[in-house]
Amino acid sequence: MSDDTPDTLPATVDALMDELRSDLEELAAIPSIAFPGFPAGPVHDAHDLLVRLLREAGVANVDRIDLPDTAPVVFAEIPPPDPAAPTVLLYSHYDVQPPGDESLWLSPPFEPTPVAGGLRARGVADDKANVIAHLGLLRAYGGRPPVGVKIVFEGQEEYGSAFDAYPQTRPERFACDAMVIADLGNLRPGTPTLTTGLRGASEVVVEVRTLEEPRHSGGFGGAAPDALLVLVKALATLHDVHGDVAVAGLRRAPWPGPGYTEDEFRSLAGVRDELPLLGSGTLGERLWSGPAVTVVGLDAPAVEGAASAVVPYARAKLNLRFHPRQDPQEAQALLVDHLRSLRPFGVPLTVTPGDTGPGYEAATDGPAYRAARTALKEAWGEDAAHVATGGSIPLVNGLAQAAPDAEVLLFGAQDGLCNLHAPNERVLFSELRNTVLALCAFVREYAADFRGDASR
Ligand SMILES: [Zn+2]
Repeated sequence: MSDDTPDTLPATVDALMDELRSDLEELAAIPSIAFPGFPAGPVHDAHDLLVRLLREAGVANVDRIDLPDTAPVVFAEIPPPDPAAPTVLLYSHYDVQPPGDESLWLSPPFEPTPVAGGLRARGVADDKANVIAHLGLLRAYGGRPPVGVKIVFEGQEEYGSAFDAYPQTRPERFACDAMVIADLGNLRPGTPTLTTGLRGASEVVVEVRTLEEPRHSGGFGGAAPDALLVLVKALATLHDVHGDVAVAGLRRAPWPGPGYTEDEFRSLAGVRDELPLLGSGTLGERLWSGPAVTVVGLDAPAVEGAASAVVPYARAKLNLRFHPRQDPQEAQALLVDHLRSLRPFGVPLTVTPGDTGPGYEAATDGPAYRAARTALKEAWGEDAAHVATGGSIPLVNGLAQAAPDAEVLLFGAQDGLCNLHAPNERVLFSELRNTVLALCAFVREYAADFRGDASR
């Protein structure tokens, strides 16, 4: 593209959309699930397709990073057009979540199917549309954007891999002035959104053994300690009467920006009409800048076929989400200590800490943020909302450590209604198109800022 004024960018991007849609369909048809038990072939097929598409988009240096038990990472570079230009790292991932129960899908998860204004398939929003958006940026500039580019397309984000801890070990490869982590999107379709915080995440397993084996509930119930009852009593201490987390020391701060309305959240979460939500305070505080403890698994006898017996053993897995700036070891230790201090009916619990990973909070006052705010407004026609998300992206911290001075921008083509990780995932072409446009405008603005271009 020779003329990159704001007037021509939309037309340039619109002219690319047919091709980008068909590339997205081709990519979304590949079941690139990098979980154990799924074939590795499709993951490699998706990798190879992206290498081809990058080469066709004019990227000469396309490399791969191979790590143990890790799908290949696409790593590509375009040198800066001149020494004064900044370098921007573009991240997204080409692996997807498993489809889950396929009977809940309205069309087969790996047969991309048109829906109103978009496309339905597993992984089409998370995160293949964002992979395609990066390609759109490169195409719009004929492979020669006004900034240096480093491309990182991860192949095993959804399951976790050795790559999470890799960037810190090779910081020179990931050196950049700003990074666009496109594994996210908008609060709702049409609302441009910069995600500026991610909660940390931690797992804890708690178990109780009280008897050698089950005992007749008629003969022993009433005195023999019931392991399931002990566990349930312990779990009941994790929240107060309002549903706010009752583990002392977990940070909670007011959320300063906009958030979901209660109606919006209810419909997103599928909360039944007559039921209240958990917790108190704003939704931003409950979802983004405060803690959450969720019981994600429970080992206990199934109801179907349950014997009339006192349960000797029970176990629960807890998922903790905590304030972006709270130390991950500290947050996990608070939950572990809380549980270890309990003695429901006098019975001690065995508490085992699992993985714990930090959250992230971005500084939002640098030149890349200024450029991104301008770009998102240009693409969507309104000011960008700043939000946080309850999810976490482990690699963000690795990248932030590798390039500690780089500004980290989180935005992309997903939206609050796209059903990621759920049945019937879909992406909207309006969001894809606007994301490509925003990326193009971002690099233009950011490069101009670096040049100190007074003509702008
Ligand atoms: Zn993702």
